[in-house]
Amino acid sequence: DYIGQSPVRRRDELGELSEGIVYMSREIEQSFARQKQFIGNISHEFKTPLTSIMAYTDLLDMYQDDPALLEEARLRIRKEADRLLEMVEKVLYLSAMEQYEFSQNAETLDISETLGDVCGRMNGKAVQFGLRIITDLRPAAVTADRESLMHIFLNLLDNAIKYNVEGGQINVSCRAEGSRCVVVIRDTGIGIPEEARAKLFEPFFTVSKDRARLTGGTGLGLSLVKRLVELQNGQVTMSDPPGGEQGTVFVVTLPLAASGVSK
Ligand code: ADP
Repeated sequence: DYIGQSPVRRRDELGELSEGIVYMSREIEQSFARQKQFIGNISHEFKTPLTSIMAYTDLLDMYQDDPALLEEARLRIRKEADRLLEMVEKVLYLSAMEQYEFSQNAETLDISETLGDVCGRMNGKAVQFGLRIITDLRPAAVTADRESLMHIFLNLLDNAIKYNVEGGQINVSCRAEGSRCVVVIRDTGIGIPEEARAKLFEPFFTVSKDRARLTGGTGLGLSLVKRLVELQNGQVTMSDPPGGEQGTVFVVTLPLAASGVSK
């Protein structure tokens, strides 16, 4: 009821409103700038495997009489095509996510069960690479989108396997702590150098092209993880294992469900 309010009060409200509008327009501007950069990056990142595929396709003719070279060219084409497909899938997923109504699909679930499921799925791959997954999963209820949680932890575990060393291990734990659910994924792998950390969660960022090519990485996994975690009102951070041990630790925290006091 504005008629009854003093002019001073109205001026305060107008001030708040205009501050709000300035803030919102700044957010929109930044979001546009990020999108522009993302599209620029996509074009660049797609070009690399495509150029490689074209070059090897041209070489096929020259290699006609040499089965070994022919096979190598075939494998390289296949590998670059796989990389391209993975990138397309992740970019599509990233864009689909922005339209997705998370709140409508959120359910209250015990995160220890989701993580148990993820670890079970990744165990085969871990064993194949000579690695062990060790779990310490305590019940903790969160209200979140189940599929997003699966994506987040599958991606983090996949990295913990890809960037690990022969005979290494991966520790996965979860527990309720205060009003948060804390998930820790720790590996004994090659680690992430200090200078790479600031950009780690940016789309298309890879620590070094060599490491990425070895494992067919796209640099999209962690940006996807970060976005998905944020959409569930959570946070993800990276740190070193305690005691100067080799490896990497990723911590995901999510709000506990209203009824999710630890059992
Ligand atoms: P990618 O598809 O290349 O793995 P990500 O976005 O998942 O892309 O990761 C970005 C980069 O961070 C990777 O290229 C890798 O060098 C580094 N990285 C991610 N996770 C780990 C880890 N657990 N240990 C060591 N390096 C990692």
